Amino acid sequence: MNDTVRTAIVTGAARGIGAGVAKRLAADGRQVAVFDLNEASCETVVSAINAAGGKALGVGVDVSDAASVAAGVARVAEELGAPTIVVNNAGITRDNLLFKMSEQDWDMVMNVHLRGAFLMSRECQKYMTEAKWGRIVNLSSISALGNRGQINYSAAKAGMQGLTKTLAIELGKFGVTTNCIAPGFIQTEMTKETADRLKIPFEDFIAMGAKEIPVGRVGQPEDIAALCAFLTSDESGFINGQVIYAAGGPKA
Ligand code: NAP
Repeated sequence: MNDTVRTAIVTGAARGIGAGVAKRLAADGRQVAVFDLNEASCETVVSAINAAGGKALGVGVDVSDAASVAAGVARVAEELGAPTIVVNNAGITRDNLLFKMSEQDWDMVMNVHLRGAFLMSRECQKYMTEAKWGRIVNLSSISALGNRGQINYSAAKAGMQGLTKTLAIELGKFGVTTNCIAPGFIQTEMTKETADRLKIPFEDFIAMGAKEIPVGRVGQPEDIAALCAFLTSDESGFINGQVIYAAGGPKA
């Protein structure tokens, strides 16, 4: 699928969807920087990629912190090469109904998703515009359409869609495309934590979710990774500023 060796950064890639994306991009021939809060937590994914014959680097980065992002991206440029693919995947949930939602939980969710995607994109755009080629993929969610108990998360995920469309307009002329993947229920630690909070066994939560999804199952990180591989490929250059729902059906 890809002829040129390029360097990709995947944020929040120590586990879940990010780990799946990092492994898939590496299998497709990309050099991959695995960003997560704690560098040691990246080791499992980095080792798996290297053991499979790929090239990966784990970097401890807090995407909501400008200095941390700048240092992490500079390290990637030096140790792997200019990062011309960025997948803004790092995410957290801090769910609560409006009347119980704290300002801290509002700010934390905004900072990781929106500020993080802004800082990462701003830091990496110079490498992409210089190369006259780049791919940015932002993780939104079906929650962007509204979800009870997630006023912070749904606002952030709707924000990711606006950010995507403006990046697409600003960077398109440099050969840089920006697109957004909005997953439905994907089986990860994040959805397990939701099940735990609701005091529903994860298997039951998965079965309940699958019943509502037309393809009859919940998603796996590999489902999102496959779409991400296409959106960051050399051949996806005419797809720009799109939001693609990957949710096993047409409705959230
Ligand atoms: P996950 O299993 O919770 O993984 C998220 C990763 O992001 C964790 O490794 C986490 O590190 C890391 N992270 C959190 N804050 C960070 C920060 N400030 N800087 C760097 N890394 C940070 O979540 P997931 O389910 O794979 O979700 C990945 C993305 O898809 C998120 O943006 C999520 O909102 C989105 N999404 C998920 C679903 C779903 O059903 N799972 C659906 C729609 C959208 P720690 O473990 O150290 O906190």
